[in-house]
Amino acid sequence: MGNMLSAARARMHRAADKLDLAQETVERLDYPTETLAFSIPLRRDDGSLEQLKGWRCRYDSTLGPTKGGIRFHPSVCEDEVQTLAFLMTMKCALMGLPFGGGKGGVSVDAGDLSLMEKERVARGYVRSAARILSPDRDVPAPDVATGTREMAWMVDEYGALTGGIEPHAFTGKPVALGGIEGRTPATGRGGLLALEAMRESLGLDGSDGLSIALQGFGNAGTWFARAAVDAGHRVVAISDSSGMVSDAQGLDIDAVIEAKEKGGSVTDYDGGETSDDGSAIVEVECDVLVLAALGGVIADADDVGKLSCKAIVEIANRPILSAADEPLREAGIDVVPDILANGGGVTISHAEWVQGRTGLGWDAEEVDDYLQEKMEDAAEQVRDLMEDKGLDMRTAAYGVALRRLCAAISATGTAEDFGG
Ligand code: NAD
Repeated sequence: MGNMLSAARARMHRAADKLDLAQETVERLDYPTETLAFSIPLRRDDGSLEQLKGWRCRYDSTLGPTKGGIRFHPSVCEDEVQTLAFLMTMKCALMGLPFGGGKGGVSVDAGDLSLMEKERVARGYVRSAARILSPDRDVPAPDVATGTREMAWMVDEYGALTGGIEPHAFTGKPVALGGIEGRTPATGRGGLLALEAMRESLGLDGSDGLSIALQGFGNAGTWFARAAVDAGHRVVAISDSSGMVSDAQGLDIDAVIEAKEKGGSVTDYDGGETSDDGSAIVEVECDVLVLAALGGVIADADDVGKLSCKAIVEIANRPILSAADEPLREAGIDVVPDILANGGGVTISHAEWVQGRTGLGWDAEEVDDYLQEKMEDAAEQVRDLMEDKGLDMRTAAYGVALRRLCAAISATGTAEDFGG
């Protein structure tokens, strides 16, 4: 087992230790059910042939078909794919969705691919992973460097392979191809709903607008920022891979989005202070630091020592590593954990899957209502367990997920049933 997965599992065991759960049910979640590793031959535009490495992991399907994105990034490896599939297992259980956890990826620099090369990788991925995929078995979605266009190529390739029309084999598709209104903003908007629902627990109660520093200004980050400003908060700093822009009075989000679209970076914003060093975002004085870019940003006590925020919202997957958990507790900085804060994306993927399965469309209002209901319900369950057992928010979130998973696992038989 890889180091990443064992560190992620340690958080699950921490929660299991605090709750009265049968050890054998928790141990069922220690290893992934299956991981398919494959090569994807890529014919480059210059005629050369390259072999890329790809993976698809179905971590656990106790609660339903496995669900999780496909990532194109040079750092993708088996350990990362399995760890992210483990997190999806916990997230789907916490959000009360009828899904297990899965994940996939290709080790490739998407920025180095032409559009046609990217299409070949997307279609090649489906050809290689087809034997593990199916709308009732394993349902992919977009992740880093994949989006609606890649899902359109993939659903098209999958249909060509199976000879069926199965739009619910993938989520995050374009609306024109069976996608759902509101899937793209769902992760960012859901992140804000989670923050609002947890304000009191974070010690940020009151109705005053919060000051927010935001790392990452892609899909999740931009929609979080829009929703935050609409709700009366101030986004005082934003970073992306090229640098950082800040203004203590609050940035004009629409203008930052426009500047990034035109110039390629948030530092093209005309106003506020700009810096080429985006990593300094974690040091910005603010109420809430929102991490919406990468994994492993706050890795240890040294990183925690640099923070000037009162609370953190993890919109990215595993931006805080477990070695930083104790230093954060000591520093009194509470964290809205990834499995809750970014659960809005898979929640609306569920709506899209239901839409494809039933053939009945959802309108934007129904999608928004479903997002709000699921985020608030999950947050309430976490708050109740925090109060009941005196747990921190991450441990309580794992606790809610584990209770659901373990109830389902026990339903298939326990030590007592078998005379143990
Ligand atoms: P994206 O590719 O659209 O955006 C990523 C952003 O991060 C970009 O603005 C990029 O410039 C920025 N970035 C990259 N390196 C950076 C650095 N060193 N410093 C600051 N910024 C940096 O991705 P996304 O869909 O917005 O996803 C962001 C994170 O949220 C990922 O970890 C993803 O797994 C997670 N997430 C996304 C969704 C979703 O529905 N989009 C759902 C759940 C989790």
